[in-house]
Amino acid sequence: MPTYEFRCQNCGQVFEEHQRVEEHGRQVPACPQCKSSDKVEPQLSRFHAVTSRKA
Ligand SMILES: [Zn+2]
Repeated sequence: MPTYEFRCQNCGQVFEEHQRVEEHGRQVPACPQCKSSDKVEPQLSRFHAVTSRKA
């Protein structure tokens, strides 16, 4: 199971979570620090992705 890195925009915490590939992108884990998943965004450290689709 791959490990993904996430960053919480709420408190700035960066953490890693094991996720299945099919889960990744559909759900985000809760931040271990502030327990919120609202502002958690995946960090694309393993992949070079084009994230230019910002509204
Ligand atoms: Zn947080």
